[in-house]
Amino acid sequence: MQLLQDYEGYVADREQALAGLRRYENEATALEIEQSNDAVHFLYINEIAEAASRFLNGFPGTCLYAAKANPHPALLRLLWAAGIRHFEVASIREIEELSAAFPLAQLYFMHPVKSRQAINRAYALGVRHFAFDSLEELRKIKQETGHAEDLSLMLRLSVSQVGAAYPLDNKFGATLMEAPLLLTHARQIAEKVGVTFHVGSQCLEIEAYVNAIYNIANMLDGCGVEIDMLDVGGGFPVSYPDMEPAPLQDYFDAIQKTLVECGFDTLEIFCEPGRAMVAAGGAVAVRVELRRGQSLYLNDGTYGALFDAGQLGWAYPVELYRSGRLNAPSESTQFQLYGPTCDSIDKMKDHLALPDDVCEGDWIIFRHLGAYGYAMQTRFNGFYSETMVGIESPAEFA
Ligand SMILES: *Cc1c(COP(=O)(O)O)cnc(C)c1O
Repeated sequence: MQLLQDYEGYVADREQALAGLRRYENEATALEIEQSNDAVHFLYINEIAEAASRFLNGFPGTCLYAAKANPHPALLRLLWAAGIRHFEVASIREIEELSAAFPLAQLYFMHPVKSRQAINRAYALGVRHFAFDSLEELRKIKQETGHAEDLSLMLRLSVSQVGAAYPLDNKFGATLMEAPLLLTHARQIAEKVGVTFHVGSQCLEIEAYVNAIYNIANMLDGCGVEIDMLDVGGGFPVSYPDMEPAPLQDYFDAIQKTLVECGFDTLEIFCEPGRAMVAAGGAVAVRVELRRGQSLYLNDGTYGALFDAGQLGWAYPVELYRSGRLNAPSESTQFQLYGPTCDSIDKMKDHLALPDDVCEGDWIIFRHLGAYGYAMQTRFNGFYSETMVGIESPAEFA
């Protein structure tokens, strides 16, 4: 694998990408100097660049970053510096922000249900790739692009979510039975036609991708429709305490092998990672504002960056940072964690094991939260954090 640091111009581009972002050697220094009242988001600069080059070098096709996973401007610029030029988007705001930041970026409007204004505006801004999963949506795209002849239309199929820790089924996607008719209609209006799917987020079964591709090949064989593009979506997993996935390269190899077996290796191939691109490249530090017995009240919660931890009970690698205090060895016990808002559902689903002497002023760092943390914050009750800082060399946590 070519090291990103070797790319000509990468270091200069990275420095420009990070202009305006406060940067620290490690988390401890950041927390000491920031003295933030809000949660603190960390961006692990090298980890983000390495994840980007893993996808760019390893995936057998074009890699679209799913912007919703973390749309922070510094992170987007870092991905751009690392070579990401294609983005998966779902809303007109995402499109406007990305095309303003990166006029040369290629945007793929992959939400299967779009407003008419959004389609119209996206086309005006240069978007040519649109997803659909119904005849009604196809008609909207045709009308709102003024019967454009340069469209690339991607049929979103619903596929098995077996193996996904976070299934995304039952909402979008045509069935394999409906696909031939939809593809035939798309062929009549599009310059290029493709198929896309999403196996569900944090997909721990490589076979989910393999099976989806085989099912598409069978469907196409049966109906004689040809496609130009195949998009295997997102869903690539990262490591969390309860989930240890196979290496990313195993996913890429299995996908590549299947594409060849199905005769798809001549198509344009895409993937759309969100989580796997940025999860390990971020973390959030939250402060204990009060301890009452085994209950800890924090400055961030389920309406903030801890939605998945709170509502779904997902586990993250956790570390304690205590200002001016030693991390003295201490038994760990179970704590109930509460978020800062006045809502009673703003609490963690499961208890969290922490050193028994945890107290007010300590910071709990949730790692591998670069995806769907910062991005999920609401402004409810005035609790949220725009404090994002770059970390050069993260502490090696045990
Ligand atoms: C959310 C989403 C992604 C990214 O999914 P991850 O599981 O984070 O990789 C990709 N494509 C579409 C259409 C999505 O909705």
